[in-house]
Amino acid sequence: MIFRPEILSIKDQRMQPFIDPVEIRDLITKTNSEPHHVRDVIAKSMDKQRLTMKETAVLINANDPELITEIKEGARKLKEKVYGQRIVLFAPLYIGNLCTNNCAYCGFKADNLVVKRITLSREELIKQVTSLEDVGQKRLILVYGEHPKYDARFIADTVKTVYSVKSGRGEIRRVNINAAPQDIDGFRVIKEAGIGTYQIFQETYHEETYRKVHLGGIKKDFNWRLTALDRAQEAGIDDVGIGALFGLYDWRFEVLGLLRHTNHFEAVYQVGPHTISFPRLQYASELNIDKSHLVSDDEFTRLVAILRLAVPYTGLILTAREPAFIRDEIMQYGVSQIDGGTNIEMGGYARMKQGEVQDIDFEQFQINDNRSLDEIMVELIDHGFIPSFCTACYRLGRTGEHFMEFSVPGFIKRYCQPNALMTLAEYLEDYAPPETKKKGYHLIRKKLGEMPDDKFKTLLQEKLQRIKEGQRDIYF
Ligand code: SAM
Ligand code: SF4
Repeated sequence: MIFRPEILSIKDQRMQPFIDPVEIRDLITKTNSEPHHVRDVIAKSMDKQRLTMKETAVLINANDPELITEIKEGARKLKEKVYGQRIVLFAPLYIGNLCTNNCAYCGFKADNLVVKRITLSREELIKQVTSLEDVGQKRLILVYGEHPKYDARFIADTVKTVYSVKSGRGEIRRVNINAAPQDIDGFRVIKEAGIGTYQIFQETYHEETYRKVHLGGIKKDFNWRLTALDRAQEAGIDDVGIGALFGLYDWRFEVLGLLRHTNHFEAVYQVGPHTISFPRLQYASELNIDKSHLVSDDEFTRLVAILRLAVPYTGLILTAREPAFIRDEIMQYGVSQIDGGTNIEMGGYARMKQGEVQDIDFEQFQINDNRSLDEIMVELIDHGFIPSFCTACYRLGRTGEHFMEFSVPGFIKRYCQPNALMTLAEYLEDYAPPETKKKGYHLIRKKLGEMPDDKFKTLLQEKLQRIKEGQRDIYF
C-alpha cells in the first residue's frame, strides 16, 4: 500500500498504515549532511524542539567522527538541561513463553523445540512477584509470548494478581505490559486491569525484511502490528511504548521509522508515545537470521544520541540486553528508564534467590548485564544519578506525565526529583545493605542542600522523616 498522508484527513489516518519505504529511503540517500547543517540541527534540538524526519536524516548521515562526537555531546547537554538526574528503574517479568509465531530472531519461536515451555501458574507468579518485591522492585513490565492462552482476559488476570501481592513493606505500584497486539475490545479489557504502558515493538519498519523474519503465526501481518497501538488508543490506552529491534535491517531506516511512528501518534492522537525502546539483537537459542545488519557499539551509541535529539519529550528505555559499559555511556544521553536486577529466565527470579545458575533454554535471548538491583543502585548513585521508583503521576491520574515534565515549568524540580528521592529513601530503609544506605543518604543530603526553596526543602525533609518512621508511599 502506498502511504499518502496528503490525501487522507487526520481522522482517516486513524488505524491506517503510515510507513512509506520510499519516503524513508529517499531521506537516507538524498539528505545532505554538511557540517553546518548538522550543527544547525543540533542547535535546534538544544532549544528542546522536536526534529523533523529530514533534520533527523541530517544527523543520521553525519559520518565524520568529529560530527558524531558533537551529536553525542549535544545529547549529553540536552540531557543535563532538560532531564535532571533521575533514572527510573523497573524489572521485566516473563509470564509465559508459549508462542504460535515464528520470529527468526527469538528463542521462544514455535519451531524451537529445545526451549522449555512454561506458563507461570498463579502460585508461581505470586512467588516471582514476592522475590521481586523482596529486593525492592516497585515497577514491572510483564512479558508474554503470543498464544491463544494469553488472551486479554488472561493478561488482565495476571496484572491483577501482580498488584495483589504484598510482601513485607513491598508492593508493585505500576505494571506495564509487553504482549501481542490485541483488537480494540481486548485492549479495553487490559486497560481496565489498571496497566501503565502497553509496549509493542514493530521489530522492523522495513516491510520486506519484516516478511523475511516473521515466518509464521499472526505476527506475519506487518500492518496488524503497525496499527496495534492505534487500536490501543481507540480503546483508551494513551500510554503506549514503541520500539524497533536493531540488527534486523539498516539502523538508519529504523530510526526514521520510529520517528514516523511518533509523528503519526502526535498528528492523529495529539500525544506521542510515552517511550521508545531500542533493543539490539542478542544471541538466542536456535537464532536464525541474516547477520548483515547487526549494529556495532559505535552505531548503537550514536543512534541513541540521535533519538534523544530528535524526540526530546519521549522517554528512552535501555535494557540489560546491553553490557554495563554500553549502558553507562548511553545513560549520559538522556535515557529515562533502565531495568535492574534483571532475570529473563522463565521462573528465574525465584530460582535466582535459591542460587541456581541461568539456562539459555529457559530464555528468550541472552542478557549482558547480570548485576543485582543493589549493584545497579550503587552504580547510579556513584555516578550522580538519582535512582527512582516513582509512580506518582500514574497513581494520581496525572497522565501524559512525560509531557508535563517539560511543559509545566519547574515540574521536574517540584515533583519528579523529590519523589525520586522519597522512593530512594524507601529503598534505603527497607532493602539496602549498610554501605548502599550510607551512599544513598549522602546523595539525598546533597540534593537537599542544592534546593533553593527553603519552605519546600522543609516540606520534603518532613516527608523523608516520615519515611524513616515507617510510613510508605508518600509523594508530591
Ligand atoms: N511476544 C510478544 C511480541 O513479540 O511482541 C511480546 C514480547 S517479546 C517476548 C519482547 C521483545 O523482545 C520483542 O518485541 C523483540 O523486540 C525482543 N527480542 C526478541 N528476540 C530478541 C533477541 N534475540 N535479542 C534481543 N531482543 C529480542
Ligand atoms: Fe513469540 Fe514474541 Fe518471540 Fe516472536 S518475539 S517468537 S511473538 S515471543
